[in-house]
Amino acid sequence: MCSDRPVTSGVEQSWWWSDLEPAERDLWRAPLPGDTDVDVAIVGAGFTGLWTAYYLARLDPSLRIIILERDKAGSGASGRNGGWASALLPTSWGAIARTYGREATLAWQRALDRTLPEIRQVASREGIDAHIADGGYLKVATNPAQVVGLQHSLEEARAWGRGEDDLRWLSAAQAKDLVNSPAILAGLHTPHCLALQPARLVRGLALAVERCGVTIHEDTLVTELTPGQLRTTRGTVRASVVVSALEGYAATLAGHHRDRLPVYSTLTATEPLPEHVWQEIGWESRCTLNDGRRQLFYAQRTATCRIAFGGRGAPYRYGSKIEDPVARLDHWAAHLRRLLVRLFPQLSDVTITHRWGGVLGVRGTGCPR
Ligand SMILES: Cc1cc2nc3c(=O)[nH]c(=O)nc-3n(C[C@H](O)[C@H](O)[C@H](O)COP(=O)(O)OP(=O)(O)OC[C@H]3O[C@@H](n4cnc5c(N)ncnc54)[C@H](O)[C@@H]3O)c2cc1C
Repeated sequence: MCSDRPVTSGVEQSWWWSDLEPAERDLWRAPLPGDTDVDVAIVGAGFTGLWTAYYLARLDPSLRIIILERDKAGSGASGRNGGWASALLPTSWGAIARTYGREATLAWQRALDRTLPEIRQVASREGIDAHIADGGYLKVATNPAQVVGLQHSLEEARAWGRGEDDLRWLSAAQAKDLVNSPAILAGLHTPHCLALQPARLVRGLALAVERCGVTIHEDTLVTELTPGQLRTTRGTVRASVVVSALEGYAATLAGHHRDRLPVYSTLTATEPLPEHVWQEIGWESRCTLNDGRRQLFYAQRTATCRIAFGGRGAPYRYGSKIEDPVARLDHWAAHLRRLLVRLFPQLSDVTITHRWGGVLGVRGTGCPR
């Protein structure tokens, strides 16, 4: 099962990955041994592939399920993201309702809300210590225009039936009680968000999936994906059902060029901050944090007393070309550090110990399906 091959995808630069137990981090699973017939073949061992396998295997343990992963389980976006497990929408309720109608939009939001306690429950049942905190999400306004933006968001949420329990207006003082930044003018807080350590969750989930009888083949590149059949560098797989769980990487396969647009995000992690700094900043609940700017940032206080601070990465590349995000890391990490210090001036001397980037996939319309 083990080998000392390096991870090629850049995930190892992330703070999350370096925080894994060495035995968990260095584990390599055997590649596909050759031509195979199964009931379900899933391509990609990130959250999409692993959660799909987990629930299928629990619903019907007799299913023969395999997951094919070109690298290591969790080495894509899932093992290196900002660690926000949120029930937030990628677009407005109105935009989704225009395509799917009001009832479906509301049902979808309720389903999203339910995923958060579900993640907690599975982590607990499977013994995964993913450093989960349920402090919710605090969106702050750091200039007067953003205050107006927050007011509009609140009005829209109320029109869509989101009550005080779902979203709460906070004055500057109330918001600063949660996270003490002098830049805060007002805030909105929702409980529907967890902060977690994504690499611990995804690697732990891979082990849980195996315990359910699913086989994960790593170091197995899928080169062609068609209904019922996959070609890989290790053999051909025939399956009654093929699940593409590639997200940002889908564009690398012929015929799937337009499934998702690959875009980039960059993250940094500070050194562990000393107790006297935390006494000033507070942030005990570990709520996730951002503000209303268009070029967003996203932050969490980690369980290890660092700040993980992320934001935009390289721009979309013509033709959905996927580039090594390392190329522009310096530029984006410096930009993120400036933003961090603007929020927390007491961190002007802080050392950024980790910076990394990654690819995720979005639909061209921005609307889920
Ligand atoms: C830096 C960053 C920060 C983010 N922050 C957040 C956040 O805080 N909250 C949030 O909700 N979302 C966040 N996202 C997005 C989120 O991480 C992704 O939407 C999610 O992880 C996608 O999971 P997935 O399983 O679909 O894809 P991935 O995790 O990318 O998994 C796809 C897998 O497919 C494998 N693969 C690729 N090509 C092939 C092939 N040809 N054959 C076999 N295997 C292949 C890859 O190696 C990878 O393991 C962030 C993303 C990034 C990059």
